[in-house]
Amino acid sequence: MNCRHCQYPLKTLFLDLGFAPPSNAYLSCDSLQQPETHFPLKLFVCDQCWLVQTEDYAAADALFSDDYAYFSSVSKSWLAHAKRYTEAMTQRLDLGANSFVIEIASNDGYLLRNFLETGIPCLGIEPTNSTADAAEKLGIPVLRQFFSESLAKRLVSDGPQADLIAANNVYAHVPDINDFTKGLKVALKPGGTITLEFPHLMRLLEFTQFDTVYHEHYSYLSLYTVCQIFDNAELRVFDVEEIPTHGGSIRVFGAHADDKRETTSAVTALLSEENQRGMRQVKTYVDFQQQAERIKDDLLIFLIEQKRQGKHLAAYGAAAKGCTLLNFAGVKTDLLPYVCDAAPSKQDKYLPGTHVPILSPDVIQERKPDVVVILPWNIREEVMQQLAFIREWGGVFVTAVPHIEVF
Ligand SMILES: [Zn+2]
Repeated sequence: MNCRHCQYPLKTLFLDLGFAPPSNAYLSCDSLQQPETHFPLKLFVCDQCWLVQTEDYAAADALFSDDYAYFSSVSKSWLAHAKRYTEAMTQRLDLGANSFVIEIASNDGYLLRNFLETGIPCLGIEPTNSTADAAEKLGIPVLRQFFSESLAKRLVSDGPQADLIAANNVYAHVPDINDFTKGLKVALKPGGTITLEFPHLMRLLEFTQFDTVYHEHYSYLSLYTVCQIFDNAELRVFDVEEIPTHGGSIRVFGAHADDKRETTSAVTALLSEENQRGMRQVKTYVDFQQQAERIKDDLLIFLIEQKRQGKHLAAYGAAAKGCTLLNFAGVKTDLLPYVCDAAPSKQDKYLPGTHVPILSPDVIQERKPDVVVILPWNIREEVMQQLAFIREWGGVFVTAVPHIEVF
């Protein structure tokens, strides 16, 4: 297998999580009776451009099905993040009624609704029908396609180029990252701005966030690698901000290579920090497997001890992170009898692989678990606030990554 960006042969295995089903392939009661497809879940690092990437095995359309269950608007903190982003961009780029904003992977309109409200013309690009339906109900125009260079060419042949292209939390999910980036170039107006947000590989390494690895998440990116990919597409990264989402993300600002805006010192400082942390050295990547296995072992020991003490266990948050962690650890319903999630689209279904049933959060009030394992540790504070009532019966919260912590 060759690197998706630079085509150099991949030699260094970074992480092997065994086999897992696609993390969004929630099962219905009926499909529990059917065989379930598991794919290898392995990451390699390219020792030329340092792109960390999943092993190739399946086409994107097998992963993003029509009943794709992830609706961005379910998370309140995520909605607030999107609103802050919209306000910041409107001010920084002086956007108005004559501007044009494109969002790639616009999901259920969680972000573009803010541009719509302030009268800034926008277009969402979103291949999954269930979320596109929700965005259109808000009045947001949606093109139901995967973004690519050829789609960008069609877009600009009968429409304007964009002043702002937002591709927040999609870049890491793109199988052909070079083609996608060339598409950004095509769709961007001269003087326009691209923003990408993605989990920062530097934080994944620092905090052993191996549970952020799943099949739909093809690339694990450093600023250094994104600069290479942009350069290859005649684009340039001119600014970067570190943001707290997903346990440590970066927001990269891109422009045409010949854009007049100067590259900020934030870019050079972060590139230098990445280098200091060894992100361009093979040895930084090879120890990671052991750290992931330690977390897995600690979780199992914890759950088994709690079970032996007769504690009632529950999990919260049926997201991809939890699927990866529970599948890797081999946790089934004997250790975690159910997981609660606020998204109605997931309730009464089952987690892929482990077949843990997904129930409404109301169940927590009824069954009064002693221990609630929060799987999406990145929204821990929000969950602990919402479920603060478990303190009434002495309940505690637990997160497993980067190590077992009881709150
Ligand atoms: Zn490469």
